[in-house]
Amino acid sequence: MAAKDEQQSPLHILFFPFLAPGHLIPMADMAALFASRGVRCTILTTPINAAIIRSAVDRANDALLRGTGCPAIDISVVPFPDVGLPPGAENAMAVTSQSERGKFYQAVKQLREPFDRFLADSRPDAVVSDSFFDWSTDAATEHGVPRLAFLGSSIFARSCSDSMLRNNPAESAPDDPDALVSLPGLPHHVELRRCQMMDPAKRPEHWAMFQSLDAADQRSFGEVINSFRGLEPEYVEHYQRTLGRRAWLVGPVALAGKDMAVRGNTSAPSPDAESCLRWLDTKQPGSVVYVSFGTMTSFAPSELHQLARGLGLSGKNFVWVIARSGPDSSEWMPEGFAELMARGDCGFIIRGWAPQMLILNHPALGGFVTHCGWNSTLEAVSAGVPMVTWPRYADQFYNEKLVVEVLNVGVSVGAKDYASAMEAHEVIAGEVIAESIGRLMGGSEEGDTIQMRAKGLCVEARRAVENGGSSHSDVGRLVDELMARRSRVKVGEDISTN
Ligand code: UDP
Repeated sequence: MAAKDEQQSPLHILFFPFLAPGHLIPMADMAALFASRGVRCTILTTPINAAIIRSAVDRANDALLRGTGCPAIDISVVPFPDVGLPPGAENAMAVTSQSERGKFYQAVKQLREPFDRFLADSRPDAVVSDSFFDWSTDAATEHGVPRLAFLGSSIFARSCSDSMLRNNPAESAPDDPDALVSLPGLPHHVELRRCQMMDPAKRPEHWAMFQSLDAADQRSFGEVINSFRGLEPEYVEHYQRTLGRRAWLVGPVALAGKDMAVRGNTSAPSPDAESCLRWLDTKQPGSVVYVSFGTMTSFAPSELHQLARGLGLSGKNFVWVIARSGPDSSEWMPEGFAELMARGDCGFIIRGWAPQMLILNHPALGGFVTHCGWNSTLEAVSAGVPMVTWPRYADQFYNEKLVVEVLNVGVSVGAKDYASAMEAHEVIAGEVIAESIGRLMGGSEEGDTIQMRAKGLCVEARRAVENGGSSHSDVGRLVDELMARRSRVKVGEDISTN
């Protein structure tokens, strides 16, 4: 009888996100998605990171689960390890120097202890842990729990990264930043400038880290991906069949939540947020460009100066999100920009946290100037909004290729240098920024075709998560597989975790 009860109890999955909003937000969305399918979900994280996802989880528990009989999502909060970082600095967003970065990663490694404890005490059926926690593969194996890796990247970017790690094509490329380097073995011809790639010779410790993360992901039970089959079908085929990697595509996970207002912020949304939405209500459909670069990107005053010039020169209405911690406007404001803003009819600046999903889904939106973080990219795809792409580092240059060259739903601003938020970037002239926005939203044949393609992808994205859609089916298949594994474990079959 006890065995039968246990057999019938819901599947229990532990979600263990990396400590950065771009990882926490989709992981919380994914927990909501699995919870809505009857899975018991626990998210393991530290106090400030729990606060970042708390409102989204509360809303999911209220809106999705009440009366459905689905178990509520639980957040298991563990202390952030004391490694000498200032109080409150327990998220990658708060790390501002190389020495803090070192300490932060030291703290991240120490999360193995509470992770081990959770697995030993609660014995979940599976864990979805961030690819950045490469040690979680072996920890999960020791506890006999299958690990699913999650990086929050596209299959396209994962495939590019695989090609990079396998072939290191930069090594044999000419020592010229503008040299074009091909990534071998992919379904399309994909080439980047040398300066747009992570250079293993210049960043050996990053290269070693990516090798280790990838190896740990390959030793895992499989991967869950925030994407959908119809978006990148050739790459799903390539990843699964050619590279032999087990992946379930369950996205866009942001569509799991019905109320999209406040996602991923500890404090209340910026007071500008509400008035911005009212301001958008006064604008013509498709007339506004939204400008935001996610949570980890910082712009030098000279870059902000040119961006402000570009927005002015574009002649388009704009909503521009500027980080509260960014430079004071006196350091970058170009001549005439204060007067333009004072008119109030063509530009709106949000200082702080923006309700991005609500803005992207507003009918007034006609374009998005983005750094190509995968969450932002997929949120734009799901909203049918085409993009001006402005990648900075990580997987963003790959995502730009997908958006501009494979999906044809964007125009590149021509960013060339792969550099983190702590490094300097080449300044892009206002005229170039204005021209890119014009190509997307200026009513040309090129722009209109891009707009139409973006609308088409939005329909496909929504269909994927509906009952019978590809992502809906992948979630079902994964749940069934984990349930079947539980039965095999029960009858004592010797099964491995991968
Ligand atoms: N986001 C938001 N409001 C903001 C800034 C960011 O809601 O003002 C959300 C955005 O919708 C996305 C995430 O934060 O879900 C950023 O993730 P992304 O992968 O785009 O970029 P990252 O910050 O990881 O570079």
